[in-house]
Amino acid sequence: MHSPPPQGINAIRADHIVEITWAVDHVARYPMRLLRTSCRCAGCVNEMTGEPILNPASVPEDIGITSMQAVGNYAVKFVFSDGHDTGIFSWRHLREICPCPACAPVV
Ligand SMILES: [Zn+2]
Ligand SMILES: [Zn+2]
Repeated sequence: MHSPPPQGINAIRADHIVEITWAVDHVARYPMRLLRTSCRCAGCVNEMTGEPILNPASVPEDIGITSMQAVGNYAVKFVFSDGHDTGIFSWRHLREICPCPACAPVV
């Protein structure tokens, strides 16, 4: 089952965040680094075992997103400043990792 697409998605490069408007009262600011380390492509996560391949420590603090592109109506593809461009982020995945105070577990 697919999640409905957001109303808006906006890369704010100066702040290294991607702002996703899920609803008028649900605007989430995703750090670009979080998106990079949450990538589930075959180069970042072992497809067979689900084991992470990407070492988060290898991702620079100031990683950016140089471009993004809609994939059908279910996902977005980000191109990161480290050249990584195979990550497809479904709306569902993005909602799961939503860092807004209403979604993120209180730590
Ligand atoms: Zn990846
Ligand atoms: Zn949220």
